[in-house]
Amino acid sequence: MTKTAIYPGSFDPVTFGHLDIIERASKITDELIIGVLKNSSKTPLFSIDERVKMLKEVTKNFDNVRVESFDGLLVDFAKEKNAIMIVRGLRAVTDFEYELQLSQTNKVLNKGIDTVFLTTNLKYSYLSSSIVREIASYDGDISEFVPSLIAEKIRERIKENRDEQYSKQD
Ligand code: ADP
Repeated sequence: MTKTAIYPGSFDPVTFGHLDIIERASKITDELIIGVLKNSSKTPLFSIDERVKMLKEVTKNFDNVRVESFDGLLVDFAKEKNAIMIVRGLRAVTDFEYELQLSQTNKVLNKGIDTVFLTTNLKYSYLSSSIVREIASYDGDISEFVPSLIAEKIRERIKENRDEQYSKQD
């Protein structure tokens, strides 16, 4: 039986922290599906299709990793994919309470799926997509946080957003 796991998230944008989890999770499963969540409440920097495309690009060397988008309940998506595991990354205790609640709820909703937590690589324990967006918005150097291809896309998008704002003010 193929052991399939889902690694869900917003990935807006994907960071080295995510990639570290992806690399490690891909080693302990037969197949890893990165599930990019569609119905995020926040206004994203990148559209769902852009995020899927970027993730595909940066994970193309992992043979058993696929990228898909989903909306609705994670447990339903996991069931549809015959997944037995949900993978989440834990950075600090602050992540823990929310993640525990989420995993317990998912267990009630679908008893056949377990959540597995991978603790972050210490190198990336401070890193989040929102921090990357924040630093990039002030034109800070994000090369330590995301692959260069992603950094380029972030810089372009921030410039586009800025140009759009200025043109609205005119
Ligand atoms: P979400 O909106 O679901 O939190 P994210 O894209 O922010 O989506 O995160 C997806 C998953 O990746 C979560 O389990 C999160 O804890 C984990 N994660 C995010 N950044 C890191 C990091 N630097 N190290 C390890 N795990 C991380």
